[in-house]
Amino acid sequence: MVVAALGPNHQCRILTTQGPTPFEACAAPDRCNPASHGSYHFISFCVCGKVRRHSVNGDEIERSGWVEARPGERR
Ligand SMILES: [Zn+2]
Ligand SMILES: [Zn+2]
Repeated sequence: MVVAALGPNHQCRILTTQGPTPFEACAAPDRCNPASHGSYHFISFCVCGKVRRHSVNGDEIERSGWVEARPGERR
């Protein structure tokens, strides 16, 4: 981990992305695109440990903001 190098201006960026995994639930309730539901999820990881969830269904995508990882979500 390089968290010590992350200053207050840290911008989360995708370090690695895991998936696809089967769709489970809306990835981004605050910016929902219902057409993206029902197919696959991807999870992107930042170096700081936050994650960004994506629901992807064909050309339809919804993306969450960068949020704290849940237990068990690891890059
Ligand atoms: Zn970050
Ligand atoms: Zn949604």
